[in-house]
Amino acid sequence: MKKILESLGLSEVNNGATSGSSRGWIKTTGSELVCHSPIDGSVLATVRQATAEEYEIVAARCWEAFLKWRTMPAPKRGLLVREIGEALREKKKELAALVTLEAGKIVSEGAGEVQEMIDMADFAVGLSRQLYGLTMASERPNHRMFEQWLPLGPVGVISSFNFPVSVWSWNALLAAVCGDSVLWKPSSRTPLTAIAVQNIIAPIVDKYDMDGLFSMVIGKRGDVGNRLGADKRFPLISATGSTKMGQEVGCVVANRFGRSILELGGNNAITVSETADVQLALRAVLFGAFGTAGQRCTTTRRLLLPKKLKETFASSLVAACRQIKVGDPRLEGTLMGPMIDEGAVQDMMDSIEELKKQGGRVLYGGERVTVKGLEGGHYVTPCIAEGKNEFPVVQKETFAPLLYIIEYDSIEEAIALQNGVPQGLSSAVFTTDLREMELFLSPAGSDCGIANVNIGTSGAEIGGAFGGDKETGGGRESGSDAWKYYMRRQTCTVNGGRDLPLAQGVNFKIDL
Ligand code: NAD
Repeated sequence: MKKILESLGLSEVNNGATSGSSRGWIKTTGSELVCHSPIDGSVLATVRQATAEEYEIVAARCWEAFLKWRTMPAPKRGLLVREIGEALREKKKELAALVTLEAGKIVSEGAGEVQEMIDMADFAVGLSRQLYGLTMASERPNHRMFEQWLPLGPVGVISSFNFPVSVWSWNALLAAVCGDSVLWKPSSRTPLTAIAVQNIIAPIVDKYDMDGLFSMVIGKRGDVGNRLGADKRFPLISATGSTKMGQEVGCVVANRFGRSILELGGNNAITVSETADVQLALRAVLFGAFGTAGQRCTTTRRLLLPKKLKETFASSLVAACRQIKVGDPRLEGTLMGPMIDEGAVQDMMDSIEELKKQGGRVLYGGERVTVKGLEGGHYVTPCIAEGKNEFPVVQKETFAPLLYIIEYDSIEEAIALQNGVPQGLSSAVFTTDLREMELFLSPAGSDCGIANVNIGTSGAEIGGAFGGDKETGGGRESGSDAWKYYMRRQTCTVNGGRDLPLAQGVNFKIDL
């Protein structure tokens, strides 16, 4: 453990604010945040949090960096991001190991998270030469009309514990090629991975003399989070977390006419049709519901089964679930590591109790587990339960490996059930029937930001725009044209003639 921390430049006590370069670390003076590993509850390190004054220093440097960075040609900005991608490749093993230690992800998922950052860097480098605007035909003679995309300003990034580093890369690397600087407020439950990322990129920021470009502040909500949301220097706040957080941050940002990208909770369903390839569906449900110990925004929380298939599918699922090895995420063969903390375990237990009171029943699991030698860790068995879509507990997101099986009669009913929750992030149907697939993808189909066919709800690639609608917040980030959020669009018209014709034929003649 000590070796991993040292290889990423972490000490026993760390400062919680930096403007990004190796000179940028600020001696923070706020209260201490003790970081525990969810694996065994051991203390990993301590972070001295930033005060409101220290936030102010970092935010001011981030603004200064923007003024300089915005004038750098975009393809040159891409060169810096390319070097970040290379540095992440070099440190992939160490950073992934820290993700496992701090967030409890199994080894391959920790590595996958860092790989996602590398993929984002590659994507952003290509994008740095493709920030295209349109040219329009002007209705006036000798006039040229076009739109251009300009840097927007410093971007505030608020991230959740469950993707402690990749959420930063989705935002920061796009923002950087778009000409924006970034101020990151990571989750207080995973601050060490954020500090490690800052240490990995600092030499590159030094090389380009761009202190302030990638800043970071760890601090209490009153000192940092609330301040960032309300800070007019940040025209865009990208916030990933619970719906409750999104409501708070979204209102504050909207009130000052800022832009926000809200990436909030999901309540994702897989529909298995009677025509489905059952083995394929089973695999997808198992990873979707219990991968990352059910702590993904895209985790499968509801499984919609037709009457005909319900009994057999449910018993195959329970049989397969018995094979899921729960325990130390560092060991090969473990498929489910710990929950992030005791509060998360308690939330799961509370939801199971609520489900029973509301008329549902547990088919398998849902118990606390004590792993030998890791007694301070937060382990549970995966839970398969039966419920109804209208149960209040089923309507909310419980951020845990808790799957509700719900029965349906027709594919139309399944789609209505799937859409019948407040959230709208990810959805999937397993079918070999072309008509069912087309219905699912039609305007009368899934109302989610992500709609998959014969693929589960979780594990998105970076190439598509990621996000969801309704209470998931409506934000889109990562691939496709999500970059447009990080720039301001300007429509320009140039008159190359000797007359001044007005649009729509308006006449305003004055003899001069
Ligand atoms: P959380 O809402 O507790 O915290 C997320 C972040 O918001 C943290 O950095 C936290 O400190 C900060 N925060 C909370 N309230 C704030 C406020 N008022 N002002 C400023 N900052 C504030 O979420 P979590 O428990 O860390 O993460 C789990 C949640 O995140 C789940 O609901 C999950 O679905 C969601 N999530 C969504 C996506 C997505 O892309 N849609 C991705 C990952 C996680």
